[in-house]
Parts: sequence; structure tokens; C-alpha cells
Amino acid sequence: MGVLQDKIALVTGGSRGIGRSVVLALAEQGCHVAFTYKSASAAADAVVKEVAAKGRKAMAIQSDAKSFQEAAGAVDKVVGEFKRLDVLVNNAGITKDTLLLRMSEQDWDEVIDTNLKSAFNFSKAACKQMMGQREGRIINMSSIAGVIGNAGQTNYAAAKAGMLGMTKTLAKELASRNIQVNAIAPGFVETDMTHKLTDQQKEALMAVVPMKRVAKPEEIASVVVFLASPASSYMTGQVLCVDGGLVM
Ligand code: NAP
Repeated sequence: MGVLQDKIALVTGGSRGIGRSVVLALAEQGCHVAFTYKSASAAADAVVKEVAAKGRKAMAIQSDAKSFQEAAGAVDKVVGEFKRLDVLVNNAGITKDTLLLRMSEQDWDEVIDTNLKSAFNFSKAACKQMMGQREGRIINMSSIAGVIGNAGQTNYAAAKAGMLGMTKTLAKELASRNIQVNAIAPGFVETDMTHKLTDQQKEALMAVVPMKRVAKPEEIASVVVFLASPASSYMTGQVLCVDGGLVM
């Protein structure tokens, strides 16, 4: 039996990268897992099969995390099928990096809406259900860019810092309802998002990581499991940097 046996989780952006690893790690611990994705249907189908192979139920929902209505619809689908929602992981995210002077209004809006507004959309829909249950966990996937900033990522760092403010505020609003809200701030993780970086950018990044390597998605997923599990029963409003020692 896993530490999350028969709990119901919803992960946004679960088709690839960190989100996929989170879906699989939660299933490994006994969760039935729903996840959203934007367009990678083949990847999403493969994740559903991987969850089923672990003997857990999976539900893939194609839904744009930027849309308030679609987020509410996704949460309704999950609750309609599983009758409750124990864990929400706000993970969906994108980058559109460039220096502020070159950043278009569209790139600002797209990144803020996908990374930050999405967390508002899903948290609002999920916390209604969790308040009724008098139990729940919300885990926000921020970034060290939101903690210390990063040149070329004004939009992304602002969204990720916004998530931290949201985490602490929601933690205060929801603590009395037995809903814990925490955030993870990963450093550099081996996914499609970081494959875009040039070798020169990667070298510069490694120079500032004391552990001198990038993280595997599983090393972020295991911290999500911790924050979803009874092992973190007295934690709320916290930000855990999982970054090989970069921020300390
Ligand atoms: P990734 O490999 O690019 O995967 C992104 C996931 O988000 C995919 O499942 C994608 O769905 C989904 N997604 C993107 N836009 C969406 C939208 N509008 N609606 C619904 N789903 C959407 O990214 P990752 O590296 O795993 O990153 C996951 C999270 O961790 C992000 O929030 C990211 O900011 C954060 N993070 C990553 C790193 C890193 O180094 N990789 C570091 C710190 C924080 P499709 O497959 O359909 O496109």
C-alpha cells in the first residue's frame, strides 16, 4: 500500500516532463490520477497506459489551463468521476524567454496566463470541493526564477513569484479548512523546457549549481509526493527549493 492509497489527484500539464513524473509518482503511491494537457495527445495516452499498468485509474483531460471555464470543467469532470479531489498540483507551464526590451505584450500575457492565471483557475475550482470535504492539498510548481529572478525571464519570473504570493495567501485562507497549500521551486530539470537552452547557457547554469548537475523530473516528483502525504501534515505556506543547492 502506498502512502496515498486511493486518494484522488489532479495534475495540470501531466503529459510530459515534471508533470508526467508527478502523475506516475502519485500513482505509484496509490493515487488515482487525472491530469490535463494542452495538445500532446499521444504523450497523454501513453501516460494513461503507464498509470493503468500500476493498477490505478487515470484520466487525461485536454484543456487549456489559461481558460477559467475549461479549468472549472476539468475539475467537474474529475469530481464527477471520482467523487472527491484530494490533491491538486498546479504544474502546467511554458517559457517565452527574452530580455524585457524585446518582450512582446503577447509573450508576457501568454506566460502569465499559462503559469499564474492557470493556478488561480484550478485552485478556485478545486478548493470549493476541498472545502466541502474539509481536507485537501494544493501544490504549486513555481521555480527558483520566482525566488531570485533570472535575466531573460521577466514574464516567467513574475508568474512564478506570483505563485509564491498565491501559495502563502491561500495557505492562510484555507488552513482552518484543513487544506494545506505549499510550493516547490525547482532549479534546472531535464525536460523539453530546458532542452531549448544552448550549451553555453547550460554551462553558465551549471557553474552556479553546487551539485553540478541538473535534476531528473523524478527528483521533483518525490517532493510532490512528500507534500501530498501525511509526512507533511504540519506544513503550509512553504516554498521548497529543489535545486541542487543553487538558492541558499
Ligand atoms: P514541459 O516538459 O514543457 O511540459 C509542460 C507541460 O505543461 C506539458 O504537459 C504541457 O502540455 C503542459 N501545458 C503547457 N501549456 C499548457 C496549457 N496552456 N494548458 C494545459 N497544459 C499546458 O515542462 P516542464 O519542464 O516539465 O515544467 C513543468 C513545470 O515545472 C512548469 O510549470 C515549469 O515552469 C516548472 N519548472 C520547470 C523547470 C525545468 O527546469 N524544467 C524548472 C523550474 C520550474 P502539452 O504536452 O500538451 O504541451
